[in-house]
Amino acid sequence: MLIVHEERCAACGQCHLVCPSEAFKDWGVVTLDREKCVECYACVDYCPTDALEEGE
Ligand code: SF4
Ligand code: SF4
Repeated sequence: MLIVHEERCAACGQCHLVCPSEAFKDWGVVTLDREKCVECYACVDYCPTDALEEGE
Protein backbone atom coordinates (compact mmCIF):
# COMPACT_ATOMS: atom_id res chain seq x y z
CA MET A 1 0.00 0.00 0.00
CA LEU A 2 1.22 3.49 -0.81
CA ILE A 3 2.07 5.59 2.26
CA VAL A 4 1.49 9.33 1.92
CA HIS A 5 3.33 11.81 4.15
CA GLU A 6 1.28 14.91 3.44
CA GLU A 7 3.40 17.07 5.75
CA ARG A 8 6.39 16.55 3.42
CA CYS A 9 4.54 17.40 0.21
CA ALA A 10 5.83 20.42 -1.71
CA ALA A 11 2.83 20.45 -4.06
CA CYS A 12 5.07 20.09 -7.13
CA GLY A 13 2.55 18.06 -9.12
CA GLN A 14 4.98 15.36 -10.29
CA CYS A 15 2.92 12.52 -8.81
CA HIS A 16 -0.19 13.81 -10.56
CA LEU A 17 1.74 13.78 -13.86
CA VAL A 18 3.24 10.29 -13.59
CA CYS A 19 0.34 8.34 -12.09
CA PRO A 20 -1.14 6.05 -14.78
CA SER A 21 -4.53 5.80 -13.08
CA GLU A 22 -5.17 9.41 -12.04
CA ALA A 23 -5.20 8.45 -8.37
CA PHE A 24 -4.04 11.91 -7.34
CA LYS A 25 -7.16 13.99 -7.50
CA ASP A 26 -5.75 17.40 -8.30
CA TRP A 27 -2.81 19.76 -8.19
CA GLY A 28 -1.59 21.20 -4.90
CA VAL A 29 -0.87 19.24 -1.75
CA VAL A 30 -1.21 15.57 -2.51
CA THR A 31 -4.62 13.89 -2.16
CA LEU A 32 -4.80 10.21 -3.00
CA ASP A 33 -7.87 8.30 -4.17
CA ARG A 34 -7.00 4.83 -2.91
CA GLU A 35 -9.69 3.16 -4.98
CA LYS A 36 -7.87 4.24 -8.15
CA CYS A 37 -4.33 3.38 -7.01
CA VAL A 38 -2.98 0.23 -8.70
CA GLU A 39 0.18 0.19 -6.53
CA CYS A 40 2.66 0.59 -9.37
CA TYR A 41 4.82 2.92 -7.21
CA ALA A 42 5.90 5.08 -10.13
CA CYS A 43 5.04 8.13 -8.06
CA VAL A 44 7.49 7.15 -5.31
CA ASP A 45 10.44 7.49 -7.68
CA TYR A 46 9.39 10.95 -8.85
CA CYS A 47 8.52 12.63 -5.56
CA PRO A 48 11.36 15.08 -4.75
CA THR A 49 10.57 15.29 -1.03
CA ASP A 50 10.03 11.59 -0.19
CA ALA A 51 6.41 12.29 0.64
CA LEU A 52 5.40 9.03 -1.05
CA GLU A 53 6.64 5.69 0.23
CA GLU A 54 6.10 2.07 -0.72
CA GLY A 55 4.59 0.30 2.29
CA GLU A 56 3.56 -3.26 3.09
S1 SF4 B 1 1.43 3.83 -6.77
FE1 SF4 B 1 1.05 4.09 -9.01
S2 SF4 B 1 -1.18 4.03 -9.24
FE2 SF4 B 1 -0.74 4.41 -7.06
S3 SF4 B 1 -0.77 6.62 -6.83
FE3 SF4 B 1 1.38 6.04 -7.24
S4 SF4 B 1 1.65 6.19 -9.48
FE4 SF4 B 1 -0.57 6.18 -9.03
S1 SF4 C 1 5.47 14.41 -6.12
FE1 SF4 C 1 5.66 14.50 -3.86
S2 SF4 C 1 6.01 16.67 -3.37
FE2 SF4 C 1 5.21 16.56 -5.47
S3 SF4 C 1 2.97 16.84 -5.24
FE3 SF4 C 1 3.39 14.63 -5.25
S4 SF4 C 1 3.61 14.05 -3.07
FE4 SF4 C 1 3.79 16.29 -3.21
